[in-house]
Amino acid sequence: MPALSRRKALKTMAAASLVPTLGAHALPARAATAVAPTGSAAVASGATKAAWSNWSGSAKAASASLQTPADAAAVQQLFRETTGVVRCVGAGHSFTPLVPTDGTILSLDRMAGLIGHNKSTMTASFHAGTRLAQLSRQLDLVGMGLRNLPDIDAQSFAGAISTATHGTGAELPALHADVQALQIVTPRGELLECSATKQPDLFAAAKVSLGSLGVLTQATTTVLPAYGLQRKVWLKPVEELLQIAPTLAQQHRHFEFYYLPFTGYAAAITHDVYTGTEVVHPEAADEEMLRDLRHLRDWLGRFPDLRRWVAKKLIDPNQTELAQDRSWKLLSTQRPTKFNETECHVPRELGIACVREIIQVLERRNDVFFPMEFRFIKADDAWLSPFYQRDSCSIAVHAAVGEPYDYLVPEIAPVFRKFQGRPHWGKLHGHTAADLSALYPRWKDFLAVRAQLDPTGRMLNPHLRSLFGIAQSA
Ligand SMILES: Cc1cc2nc3c(=O)[nH]c(=O)nc-3n(C[C@H](O)[C@H](O)[C@H](O)COP(=O)(O)OP(=O)(O)OC[C@H]3O[C@@H](n4cnc5c(N)ncnc54)[C@H](O)[C@@H]3O)c2cc1C
Repeated sequence: MPALSRRKALKTMAAASLVPTLGAHALPARAATAVAPTGSAAVASGATKAAWSNWSGSAKAASASLQTPADAAAVQQLFRETTGVVRCVGAGHSFTPLVPTDGTILSLDRMAGLIGHNKSTMTASFHAGTRLAQLSRQLDLVGMGLRNLPDIDAQSFAGAISTATHGTGAELPALHADVQALQIVTPRGELLECSATKQPDLFAAAKVSLGSLGVLTQATTTVLPAYGLQRKVWLKPVEELLQIAPTLAQQHRHFEFYYLPFTGYAAAITHDVYTGTEVVHPEAADEEMLRDLRHLRDWLGRFPDLRRWVAKKLIDPNQTELAQDRSWKLLSTQRPTKFNETECHVPRELGIACVREIIQVLERRNDVFFPMEFRFIKADDAWLSPFYQRDSCSIAVHAAVGEPYDYLVPEIAPVFRKFQGRPHWGKLHGHTAADLSALYPRWKDFLAVRAQLDPTGRMLNPHLRSLFGIAQSA
C-alpha cells in the first residue's frame, strides 16, 4: 500500500467535521480471531483438538494434533510412526484452505534460521520454517539480501515458495525461482535432496507444491550482495497511469500500482537501487489512507458519481513521497487491517486490458473501497508456478475483514478466466482441476510425481483433493 499521508492523499478531507459523523455509521468491529494464526500457540493444554485459523479467518481447522518437530529426523519419525493426514503450516497467511485437516498440522516454527552462506556462489541455506523477516535480517548481517520480497515478510520461507509468493518487478521472478536446492521429507519418511542437477523432476515439482509432496525442511537460495533501494510514490489519474505502466515497469527495478476505487486515481510505486547512505523512511500512513477511503465509501457509497467528484476534489495529485533504506526494509511493509483477497496472474501482454475490466466490475459494487494491486512478475520454470514460462502481470482484489467477500471469486474470476489467468495458490479462487490442467502444461507430470511420493494421500486435505481431481477420502 502506498505510504502517502492522509494529508497528502486526500488533503484533509474535511476530517474534523466528517470523521465524527462518519464514525456513527462505521461497520461493526471485526470479530476477534479465535486462535493464533500459526496454530503453534493454539493448542490448549490437555485439549484433544487443536483449533487453528489462518491470518484472515477465512480458513479454520480442528486438528487431532499439532506437531512442532525440532529437526528433519523428527519429521521422518512422525511419518514412520503415525498414520493419517499431515498438513504443513507456515505463518498461516494463505487465504485458501491449504492447511486445514482433522489429522495433524505440522509447524516448522522450531526449524528456523540461517544454516550457512557462501559468498563465492552467492547462495544461502535456511531451515524451511524461517520467517521472511528473520531471513532478511540474517542475510543482512552477512552482507546479503534476497533479490525480491513480497508485500509483507511474515511468511515462512517454505510457505512462501510453496504457493509461488512473489513481489513486483518486470525482470524479477517469484521467490521460488531463486531456490537452488531443497531438502524434503517424503510421506514415506525418506529424506531427499533435489536441485536442477539432482533429481531435476522432483525439483521442478517441489519448488511450488502446495505442501503436497512432503515436508520441506531446508532450502538454498541465490542471494545478492546487500543493497539499498529508493522508493517513490505518487498519485496519477488511473487512465494516464495505465497508458505508461508497461514503460514504467521496464524503466524501474520494481514498479506496481494501487487503484483507489471510485476516485479515478492510482498510486504508483517504484523502487530502484540506491547506493547512497542517507536513510529516509517516513512513517507509514497506509492505515490512514484506508480509513479515508472507507469513510468516503460510508459517506457517499450510494452516490458513486458524487463520490468520484468529491474524491477528485480532495485528492492532491502533486504530492510525491520518497524513502531510502535497506532493500528488505522497504519492500515488505505491515498490514494491520486484515483483509481477504483474490489474485490472478495473466500473461504480461494482457495485463492492462484485464485490469481495465476488473476496475469496471469492481465499480459496479458501491461497497468497494479497498485499493486493488497491480504487479509485474518474470517467468520461471517450476511446474506449478503460475508464472510457468509466462511473464505475467498480477491483479489482486481485497475486501477488509468484517466486510462481505463472497463476491470476490464469482464476480472477479470470470474476467480472470477470460484473460487466461492462473490463480495465486494462496489466495481465494474457484478454479477446478479441469481448469488448472488446461492452464498448466506440466500438470500431469506434477500429479505423477505426487502419486509416486504419496500414493496413500497422507499430504492431501479436501482442498488439495479437489484441486488435483482426486476423490475425497471416505
Ligand atoms: C497480508 C498478506 C500479504 C501477502 N502478500 C503477498 C505478496 O505480496 N505476494 C504474494 O505472492 N503473496 C502474498 N500473500 C500470500 C502469502 O505469501 C502466501 O499465501 C504464502 O503461502 C503464505 O506463507 P505462509 O508461511 O503463511 O504459509 P501457509 O499459508 O501457512 O502455507 C502455505 C502452503 O505452504 C505449505 N507449507 C508450509 N510450510 C511447509 C513446509 N515446511 N513444507 C511443505 N509445505 C509447506 C502449506 O502446507 C500450504 O500448502 C500475502 C498474504 C497476506 C495475508
